[in-house]
Amino acid sequence: MTEEHPYILYETPEPGIARIVMDRGNAANAQDTRFLYELNAAFDRAAAADDVRVIILAANGKHFSAGHDIRERNHLENQDRFAPVTPFQQHRRPGAEGRMSREEELYTGFCERWRNLPKITIAAVQGKCVSGGLLLCWPCDLIVASDDAEFQEVTVAMGIAGVEWFAHPWEMHPRKAKEMLLTGEPIGAEEARQIGMVNRVVPRADLAEATLLLARRIARQPSFATKMVKQAVNGAVDAQGRHAANQIAFALHHLGHSHAMEVYGLPVDPGGIHASVAKTYAPGDEPFRAPAATKPAK
Ligand code: ZN
Repeated sequence: MTEEHPYILYETPEPGIARIVMDRGNAANAQDTRFLYELNAAFDRAAAADDVRVIILAANGKHFSAGHDIRERNHLENQDRFAPVTPFQQHRRPGAEGRMSREEELYTGFCERWRNLPKITIAAVQGKCVSGGLLLCWPCDLIVASDDAEFQEVTVAMGIAGVEWFAHPWEMHPRKAKEMLLTGEPIGAEEARQIGMVNRVVPRADLAEATLLLARRIARQPSFATKMVKQAVNGAVDAQGRHAANQIAFALHHLGHSHAMEVYGLPVDPGGIHASVAKTYAPGDEPFRAPAATKPAK
């Protein structure tokens, strides 16, 4: 059955290396609840495997990820299929409480877990990586991008102050982060490399091999040393206030959701959806249709 086709593939291309492949290319690897839990399970599997030292996160299809699947309508029913991995389990509470709990589990919770995995992670990014897509590559230790990759943040157009895991000011200079957020314009692969957000840029045809070569180089290092040095760098960034700042941004993110619920009856400004995320879906996919009649003048 199509429903049971896994969204996430788990491969072991060579000793010491696991490759997790997002395989929902027909929806630009948009993330719904099942997608994220399958991805989290794959990360856990690689983290628990003694012989895995480096984990590659790759994507099948034209785009790395279009972000959250805004067409998912039965969040809570889907959520019930999976055991939570964080203490936040109040998803059925009314209003902001339930919405915030769910996002603490699926977004900030998962991102923190993946960022802190005791193995080295490398994202291989091609095509579009939009908003929630950043929550997949940014928690990784290294990023290899193909020359057609584009990194974009479109949440402001939806009335929201950035995606749930607000790493922007740590991934790039704060002034560039503001430009990315305020304009919603994409950052190309080469510029992303120049500002330090991406490690290497390679031709599209070479992405898989170049990522594997980098993984192989790191897999040769002593695994306890790679784990310790990862913790040292992550600890330095956390000492600068990353985690505390993210908590503030997450609260503001939910103020945006609550405001949109009051004004539009939807968790985001519907005016921003058509202009951005929906068009990255493959032809033939039915994009989200906002009830235009509910949108008042700004
Ligand atoms: Zn949100």
